[in-house]
Amino acid sequence: AKREGKNTMVFYNNAMKENITEEERIKEYLIEALRHDGFEMVYQPKVDPSNDLVIGYEALVRLKDRRYSPNIFIPIAESNGLISELSRQITEKVIKQLAAWQKAGEKLYPVSINYSPAQIYDRGYVAYLAQTLSKYHIDARYLRVEITESLMMEDMSATNKLFEDFAHLGILTLIDDFGTGYSSLSYLMHLPISIVKIDKSFIDHYLVPGKESFIENMIKMLKDLDKMIVVEGVEEKWQKDKLNEYGVDAIQGYFYSKPLLPDDVLIFQHQHQ
Ligand code: C2E
Ligand code: CA
Ligand code: CA
Ligand code: CA
Repeated sequence: AKREGKNTMVFYNNAMKENITEEERIKEYLIEALRHDGFEMVYQPKVDPSNDLVIGYEALVRLKDRRYSPNIFIPIAESNGLISELSRQITEKVIKQLAAWQKAGEKLYPVSINYSPAQIYDRGYVAYLAQTLSKYHIDARYLRVEITESLMMEDMSATNKLFEDFAHLGILTLIDDFGTGYSSLSYLMHLPISIVKIDKSFIDHYLVPGKESFIENMIKMLKDLDKMIVVEGVEEKWQKDKLNEYGVDAIQGYFYSKPLLPDDVLIFQHQHQ
């Protein structure tokens, strides 16, 4: 048994070492990408299912070379002190893109960016956002911020302050990944949150035959609270039709479109406006 235990130890140590090296490697890769403009943004349309018109976009970050997906590199950026710099680069890229579209005479729609819980320690972020909007002459109503439920549970008072700061700038905030954390009705009622985005996993679990009434009731409740409702990860027409019947305001998912590079955004937009 002793011997087995020893072997197990060795095994764990090697596995841990391998993981650490892999994380280290990705971290170094991210540092290089931050230095050499190695990131770009893609934009996924949010569409009103009642008329198929675009109402906005979510900006999602990519490595230009697609070496790692955001599900891999965002958590590593968060745990290695890189998320502040990355988020600032993302913010500037999105606002710059809005300015380019505006200059080209395109109609602007609100674009939302993701706020990482790890950014709560970046005290200057809200000011940076405000400065960048004014630098590029972009109205705050064209920028929105998606904040996950989990942050609110971690630090209620810091989150409160954050929501107030954004509201003060005229920036609308969305609750992201709704239905994956410990959703509380009280924060929905008391924080200045006007939009709720229901997570894909929630749809996958509950938008199935025989269980629809749960999601239908949740949507009813959110509407009673005057929340605008976006549903993420909708891939099939019957899902879109059901959600439209329940009265959701917007659908974001492969059914309408994958996240797109800027030129393709315009092609999509011209077909849906
Ligand atoms: P998220 O914020 O929940 O973003 C939605 C994710 O669902 C995106 O994955 C999107 O491409 C994917 N998705 C949308 N519709 C569908 C669908 O119909 N089917 C399927 N299978 N997937 C769909 P993505 O871009 O890989 O991003 C993954 C996560 O990485 C995001 O989840 C977010 O937490 C994080 N992330 C991505 N971009 C950023 C960013 O710019 N900043 C921060 N802080 N996090 C980001
Ligand atoms: Ca999001
Ligand atoms: Ca999600
Ligand atoms: Ca998320």
